[in-house]
Amino acid sequence: MKSQYIIKIKDNDNVAVAIYDLPAGTEVLPGLRVCDEIPQAHKIALGDIPAGGEIIRYGVVLGYAKEDIVRGQWINEHMLDLPESPSVENLPYGTNIVRKEDLPAPVRDTWFGYRNKTGPAGTRNLLGIVTTVQCAAGVLKVAVEQIKKELLPKYPNVDGVVAVTHPYGCGVAINAPMAEIPIRAITNVIRHPNFGGEIMVVGLGCEKLTYDRVLPKEDITPENVLTLQDYAGHDAMMNAVMEMAEKKLERLNGRRREELPLSQLLIGMQCGGSDAFSGITANPSAGYAADMLVRGGATVLFSEVTEVRDGVQMLAARCVDETVRDRLAKEMKWYDDYLDAGGVDRDANPTPGNKKGGLANIVEKAMGSIAKSGTSPIVEVLSPAQKPTKHGLIYAATPASDIVCGPSQVASGIGLQIFMTGRGTPYGLDICPVIKVCSRNEMKDHWFDMIDISAGAVATGEATIADVGTEIFHMILDVASGLKEPYSDQYGFHIDMCIFNPAPIT
Ligand code: CA
Repeated sequence: MKSQYIIKIKDNDNVAVAIYDLPAGTEVLPGLRVCDEIPQAHKIALGDIPAGGEIIRYGVVLGYAKEDIVRGQWINEHMLDLPESPSVENLPYGTNIVRKEDLPAPVRDTWFGYRNKTGPAGTRNLLGIVTTVQCAAGVLKVAVEQIKKELLPKYPNVDGVVAVTHPYGCGVAINAPMAEIPIRAITNVIRHPNFGGEIMVVGLGCEKLTYDRVLPKEDITPENVLTLQDYAGHDAMMNAVMEMAEKKLERLNGRRREELPLSQLLIGMQCGGSDAFSGITANPSAGYAADMLVRGGATVLFSEVTEVRDGVQMLAARCVDETVRDRLAKEMKWYDDYLDAGGVDRDANPTPGNKKGGLANIVEKAMGSIAKSGTSPIVEVLSPAQKPTKHGLIYAATPASDIVCGPSQVASGIGLQIFMTGRGTPYGLDICPVIKVCSRNEMKDHWFDMIDISAGAVATGEATIADVGTEIFHMILDVASGLKEPYSDQYGFHIDMCIFNPAPIT
């Protein structure tokens, strides 16, 4: 239900969300005047709610009223008690499987990418130079600037050079069980589809993350790995990096885009700086695009454990079989324990900006976040930084933190990320392009030259979810095909490779 001023999502909701800032006294429905000034995206009580009563949005209990709430009152984050987190035991699975033919049909069947020997195709043709340890990062950053200046212009078919520097590699408990996560991330990023199978790994020489932990024996060759401690001084070291890079660039320069089926495309989705509109406009529109991609044979990852935890039963219902459901439950349980060990729970997730944007707690945030997954069945569940083995919609368990989720999905091999935001973030990745979709027109007006697509017209009624979803779908294929460059790439607003390391640092 939608009026000129408010949006209510499900019939049994007892709150609605303000489309604009509403002055006190505004009559939002016949006979319903708001008692307080209501900030945009914040909740209004549609009826009286007694203390202890349920506050329902998306048809889901967001929490329980701490005190009596009267009809027309503003409900902010201080007025709810958080419900218990849903159990992950014996979740019913396969009870909400949407058939492929019932998903929205893709409006295009092909795109143009760089085919790889195995796995998904590349969306960019990049020389990726990966460090095995942070100590090599400074050298590599300087070397990459030199490569860009002196070598790259000679190889016009190569889109760029990326220094994959990260905080892992030494001073860590390398044999700790959890260390498998950062090690897997580095192992898999070396083989990122945008690097075209060209391996260039730079180590220091005395670090714990030795080459054999990230490369098979046959790939540890002088052509692929370079150890800084082997070189006598600055000039010899830089020359060695330049020489190795040039050989790789020569080969990469021979790559060309070709027309490919959607099954060669692997993308990721995440949201950040969300607001209460994210779950009504941007995320469901992205979900619509995801459904189109999945129907067309593409693979789509969604992530962010704390932001799906409260809707785990909804995801289990979409798991295609018991194995997938069990993996989902296992990843949720692992994260519960991880948070517990840190003395917090999932409600440590929402930020002050989320709350200012009307999100009262993690339950409300999760319901909006899950909307980006669309309606497709979930065919696989991955641990952080694992590569998919199936096509379709896949849940890749990662932290919700933007700067950790992004690199984790990159390690899983995404060629593009679609990023939904309410409050705005300049976030971008250097290994693959990021398309920014905002939830409100005000955000697009504010950051007119930083947000790629606005889903705000869904809230004002000027566009449907299908309209914006189709626009997102076209943008995904255009950017993946190299026909368009999202703003974050135009400006080079790229974050660091912040890989997830839950293991001890020594
Ligand atoms: Ca996020």
